[in-house]
Amino acid sequence: RIVTPVRQSSQEEALERALRPKLLDEYVGQEKARGQLEIFIEAAKRRAEALDHVLLFGPPGLGKTTLANIIARELGVNLRQTSGPVLERAGDLAAMLTNLEPHDVLFIDEIHRLSPVVEEILYPALEDFQLDIMIGEGPAARSVKLDLPPFTLVGATTRAGMLTNPLRDRFGIVARLEFYTPAELTRIVNRSASLLNMEIDDEGAYEVARRSRGTPRIANRLLRRVRDFAEVKHDGRVSRTVADAALSMLDVDHAGLDVMDRKLLSAVIEKFGGGPVGLDNVAAAIGEAADTIEDVLEPYLIQQGLLQRTPRGRMATLLAYEHFGLKPAGQ
Ligand code: ADP
Repeated sequence: RIVTPVRQSSQEEALERALRPKLLDEYVGQEKARGQLEIFIEAAKRRAEALDHVLLFGPPGLGKTTLANIIARELGVNLRQTSGPVLERAGDLAAMLTNLEPHDVLFIDEIHRLSPVVEEILYPALEDFQLDIMIGEGPAARSVKLDLPPFTLVGATTRAGMLTNPLRDRFGIVARLEFYTPAELTRIVNRSASLLNMEIDDEGAYEVARRSRGTPRIANRLLRRVRDFAEVKHDGRVSRTVADAALSMLDVDHAGLDVMDRKLLSAVIEKFGGGPVGLDNVAAAIGEAADTIEDVLEPYLIQQGLLQRTPRGRMATLLAYEHFGLKPAGQ
């Protein structure tokens, strides 16, 4: 799926690293989160203290990992990176924590997926910079307390609601990342195009931006595919016409929706009379996991006013009917 905001391969990861802004000033959009971080980073630097723990939340591909890297760089410290599902045992986290240098940033992606035993270790580490671990087994087991250097945890999650309350309470800074506007994405597309040595005009950049689901990761991916198309079918230059032809070939429609988005909306409209319909029924109808629908597909459709989440289930809006050239029953 070309417009999935989820990273698709290790090759894509390498390409992303090359396009990733390194400083707060190069980070486009997200004025609110950026403004807050700028102040808190500066204050921590002046006091020569570790920055408070930071929780970043928002749909995939909006720049959480990028921001974690920027925070470390702006603070002038190392970044250690891991993720919730990778930290299986208490010892895995203990090893990372004891390797930190003072004021380092520990970045835990998908922090809502930490196992409860690992989370238990994390609490005292976050609050008092102390590690409380059990060494040995059975009657010989004993608990050991170790002091840790002061550090900053940056946690990323797609939904803040999936964190346990005690974990959420331990973050002093909480920033929610929003979908980008077409104008912001145009800046990102232009920046990436120049890093990739591509020729793209303003209208071409805007066309790619507008059809990228408000998500920088998708904008960068579509840009690379549009470049392929422009090189093979044209003279390499990307204009609005070339971008439009390439995106249509990729099945990304004029509203930036792809096959899965359209499948979801048309299922709600055609199989469930426009809703309300429960998430599990939608999932079964389109053959997609409920979690993926909730984390990846729905946020953008809701933000665009095509879908509504109501207490009784999902509903297609008038705009969704119009997208397919349909009218709701009785109208
Ligand atoms: P997340 O961790 O939220 O899934 P990433 O931080 O990996 O997202 O961002 C995906 C890609 O999008 C990055 O490689 C980067 O090039 C680009 N990107 C994200 N946010 C921005 C931004 N604010 N400005 C410019 N590029 C961005």
